[in-house]
Amino acid sequence: MSSGSTSAAKLGAVTTQYSTQDIYQRVYAAISERKLLPGTKLSEERLAAAFHVSRTRIREVLFRLSQELIVELHPNRGAFITSPTREDMQQVFQVRRALERGIVTDLCESVSAEAIQALQRHLELEAQARERGDRAALAQLTGEFHLRLAEATGNRLFADNLRRLVALTGLIITQYGAADSSACAGHEHTGIVRAIQEGRAEDAAQQMQAHLRHVEDSIKTPHEPGGEIDFAQIFGLKGPAPRG
Ligand SMILES: [Zn+2]
Repeated sequence: MSSGSTSAAKLGAVTTQYSTQDIYQRVYAAISERKLLPGTKLSEERLAAAFHVSRTRIREVLFRLSQELIVELHPNRGAFITSPTREDMQQVFQVRRALERGIVTDLCESVSAEAIQALQRHLELEAQARERGDRAALAQLTGEFHLRLAEATGNRLFADNLRRLVALTGLIITQYGAADSSACAGHEHTGIVRAIQEGRAEDAAQQMQAHLRHVEDSIKTPHEPGGEIDFAQIFGLKGPAPRG
């Protein structure tokens, strides 16, 4: 448990009010971008101090994240970022293969020229991040690529369900991936977009299945969760985080 810290109320006088939605999005993004690792304790007190909000607000955010399975709530110990098991990993990829096969098949039947252009622009951003060696940006963009495909179907249920699975995949890669594992090989994304553009449904589906198998296979040895973390720094917030 935390051993004494700066009063959140004192810091609360300082700045902007973050809405529950703002906080949720920032925590979610930090998890997706692997700035917060599996097993990390999300101390209500320290998050409240970092965002200058009440603990009640933080509790709402943590509850919502727990419903999306990316945070685990333990009655007496508090909230932790989910540490997926090997079995979770298999199940996540099994469902992703089924869902994303459906997504690309759907797109081959009905995608618009605008959507294809947007996907190509996204591939360009991935290529740029890869070129400048920006791993954090690349991890985010490669996860987003799969979401952009889901969104392009116009079916919100594809997008909502995949969003959760992509966040869980981020946690799995962090927990089990080799330190330098990048989520997705760029040429595989390019091949998938080309198959969709040309309306080759079976090819697009097979490329997606193969791609997801490669991502799963590239995830290798576990590493330990990190130690003490600075929430204010991770979320780009002003003011020093209290040392708990
Ligand atoms: Zn990918």
